[in-house]
Amino acid sequence: MKQANAAAIYARISSDQSGEGLGVQRQLEDCRRLAAERDWVVAGEYVDNDISAYSGRTRPNYERMLIDIEAGRIDAVLVYHLDRLTRRPAELEHFIDVCTDARVDVTTVTGDIGLGNDNGLMIARITSAMAAAESGRKSARIKRKMLQNAEMGKPSGGGQRPFGYEHDRVTVRESEAEVIRALADRYIKGESMIALAHWLNDQNVPTSGGVASWHVQTVRRILVSGRIAGLRDHHGEPIAEGKWPAIISVEQREQLLTVLRARGGTQQARTNRYLLSGMLRCGLCGAKLHTTITRSIRRYTCRRSPGDNACGRLSINAIHVEEWAAAAVVLHLDARGMTSMLASRASADYRHSPYLAEVLRAQQILTELAEMLGAGELSRTEYAAARKVAEARHMGAVRELDRATGTNAMHGLDPKREALTRSWERLDLQRQRSIVRTLLDFAIVYPRPRGQRKLDPTRIEARWVV
Ligand SMILES: [Zn+2]
Repeated sequence: MKQANAAAIYARISSDQSGEGLGVQRQLEDCRRLAAERDWVVAGEYVDNDISAYSGRTRPNYERMLIDIEAGRIDAVLVYHLDRLTRRPAELEHFIDVCTDARVDVTTVTGDIGLGNDNGLMIARITSAMAAAESGRKSARIKRKMLQNAEMGKPSGGGQRPFGYEHDRVTVRESEAEVIRALADRYIKGESMIALAHWLNDQNVPTSGGVASWHVQTVRRILVSGRIAGLRDHHGEPIAEGKWPAIISVEQREQLLTVLRARGGTQQARTNRYLLSGMLRCGLCGAKLHTTITRSIRRYTCRRSPGDNACGRLSINAIHVEEWAAAAVVLHLDARGMTSMLASRASADYRHSPYLAEVLRAQQILTELAEMLGAGELSRTEYAAARKVAEARHMGAVRELDRATGTNAMHGLDPKREALTRSWERLDLQRQRSIVRTLLDFAIVYPRPRGQRKLDPTRIEARWVV
């Protein structure tokens, strides 16, 4: 349920603070003050830790905020300064688009750049472009040196010996070159990366690291590299001819990449599409279950795949196990109580101890108040007033703790069984996923008993995080 004038605060601790030393606490405080001045209710605070907004690495809470904006849960975004939000012009454009579509206002504590009007947009874009340029300059000297080496076609130093070449990174190792030619040929003719990894393992071909265990990623890395076509890669793209002989031709490489694109790119992108992706294990062999769809029935399946010892002998109907998970999570929350759940999760991580201490302290105050009421030391009215304050403190502390543990997934949910069951259906998949993820370490799926058609809950064994 969205409140009127619901504002999101975004703050970021970055490693590239360039001496401004602007702590996240200060960012938050200033944003909260601004929210109060404008009579906005802070609906959520999103904090990402120690990640440069320029580097392009993912920022989970920034992403979460975008999801909340798109879902219409937010009216305004508050941020200390635009460079806390993003330093990459392309990302800013995306952010502006999302905010424009959702009619969300953006305000900064400094410059007070509103993205809501054309002039504000322009200033924001210029600021962001300048920040990007500045970030780029920082390690410019080192980068220039690396680029120069790349442009001259010199081999990159460090790391493992490239498969197909000797340690000097220039001389071709003919036995491995033959393997690479065979791999490229087979892939272009339609074999999958998985099949190729199986094939290498069956042939006992050692990797350049000397182990006889090939993974899909290892095969992929070799095949997409420009190196094997005599090209020098820089940031994953060929930029010059290398100072070493090619093993496959540039044309062959192009063909290979075309086939790769045609088959739909990476597998990575598909991993988190379902509620329990990555969270189920095979009860026979312990391997992670994968999502498969056969005859339009989605299943989690133990799939034989190169580089691990999956047995491939077990699968379970996805709908059944997802219904089980929803019910199990609700029961689990109900049984444990939310606070104890959060507390024990956090206790595993020392960084959360100040927040945890605050939660426990607030709980203790609540208990003491109840005792004082019981002992007649407080009147009902006094008790009610004091409890209100203590509960607010408790709520605040739980929220801090929650944020510190990196999951706000359970905010605003009534932990009581009936209420949670009702609201579960209405949550979007990513939110459901983060809730399950917070609670469930993994679940083991055992084989289906003979003749059993419906899901037998004893087939699944949950390993709770707490
Ligand atoms: Zn298995």
